[in-house]
Amino acid sequence: MAKHMHIYNQQKSYYKSGQTRPLQHRLAALNYLKDSIKRHEPEVIMALHQDLNKSEFESYMTEIGILYSEIDYTIKHLKKWMIPKKVKTALTHVGTKGKIYPDPYGVTLIIAPWNYPFQLAMAPLIGAIAGGNTAIVKPSELTPHTAEVIEKIITDAFIPEFIAVKQGGVDVSQQLLDTPFDYIFFTGSVNVGKIVMEKASKHLTPHTLELGGKSPGIVHEDASLKLAAKRIAWGKFINAGQTCVAPDYVYVHQDVKDDFLTYLTDAIEELYSHQPLENPDYTHIVSDKHFDRLTHFLDDGTLFYGGDTNKETRTIAPTVLTDITWDMPVMAEEIFGPILPVLTYESLDFIIDDITKQPKPLALYLFTETAYTREKVIAEIPFGGGCINDTIYHLATPHLPFGGVGQSGTGNYHGKFSFDTFTHHKSILKQTTMFDVPLRYPNQKAGLKWVKILMK
Ligand code: NAD
Repeated sequence: MAKHMHIYNQQKSYYKSGQTRPLQHRLAALNYLKDSIKRHEPEVIMALHQDLNKSEFESYMTEIGILYSEIDYTIKHLKKWMIPKKVKTALTHVGTKGKIYPDPYGVTLIIAPWNYPFQLAMAPLIGAIAGGNTAIVKPSELTPHTAEVIEKIITDAFIPEFIAVKQGGVDVSQQLLDTPFDYIFFTGSVNVGKIVMEKASKHLTPHTLELGGKSPGIVHEDASLKLAAKRIAWGKFINAGQTCVAPDYVYVHQDVKDDFLTYLTDAIEELYSHQPLENPDYTHIVSDKHFDRLTHFLDDGTLFYGGDTNKETRTIAPTVLTDITWDMPVMAEEIFGPILPVLTYESLDFIIDDITKQPKPLALYLFTETAYTREKVIAEIPFGGGCINDTIYHLATPHLPFGGVGQSGTGNYHGKFSFDTFTHHKSILKQTTMFDVPLRYPNQKAGLKWVKILMK
């Protein structure tokens, strides 16, 4: 029997014992998780530095601090979320009471990617615990130091019957996916997302897929240009572009292109210095394979800014490409690196048409000062979520559900939405025994007449 089957079976029994369900157990577990992360915080920062050369500032902001806020928010609201919700009674259901009971799924599986390897393993776990489930977490094998600390943090905080870590690569991931979990939460690429969905279909396992894709930025002619450039430079080059919701490419209105590009290069130099490859705080590309894939894109269009690379340290300077068309390789797949293609447009309708020909993106960022443009883009382009006049920020609030649509994903999480994701909403109708409305029975005189009156 594969080792994970032993843990899986132990978790099945533990879940069945009912211990994961009470509010007190969930709250205690969330506190243990936070305490354990706090105890190991320096090791997390060190591991992220070793795996990706992340700076302490980025590590705290995007991987650690965001989890503390999410845990605190969940602890504050969990009691209310767990209360069964009364619903109205339909006229056809006189005598009954309806309630929705939040019910845990059971034994859950969380599979994480390498780009925010700590946060993307832990944030879904907060939802799994809040929902009253057990969980097995599979971190990415491409960030081994972080995977090691994740295992330490979880082993220190929990018994494996409740929460466990299973490290490994594709083989381990596939073995786990062949197991009949009660819920699968997957974050990763579109292609692997398809494998996960196929495997989930074998057991009809409910699942969330947090995937990626090419998220556009649009800078309209009436945008506040300097801010647009700075916020795009930040969102694109944070984590060296290895961010699922980074603006993949930018469409700039023809009339403001030159000014935008000037502001953009100023912003890049302000945020990452004139010599980003020498900047000790600049994130590295995760592997040689990813580095080689990215450097091929540098041949596309015209190199407007950047383009320096260092194969030894796997770094690529923030780079801007112009004269880009959709038939170039850089536009054929999610870039996932610090290379920003800039395209121009004259009419909004033209780019709406262009973008809607592509798979539905995970995010979209529009820079404009007019409500008409804003509402038109929101209404006419399907995408997971996004920002007006900013990038990435929409995913850092617990009040907005975060997720994709179609090719960019299924389902969402963060805040209450994480609790809902890891909860089955069980509908219960309680019928009265004081009387029995006879209408539903087939032997009633004039039964049909009454049914037609009530159900017209
Ligand atoms: P990936 O799909 O290669 O790997 C993700 C996880 O799946 C890893 O744990 C890996 O071990 C496992 N895996 C890889 N190949 C597998 C296979 N054939 N069968 C079963 N499991 C397999 O993704 P990645 O390269 O780690 O991450 C980058 C991708 O993730 C990008 O496309 C990015 O947009 C996306 N992403 C999405 C979000 C989001 O929240 N929507 C967040 C981060 C990353």
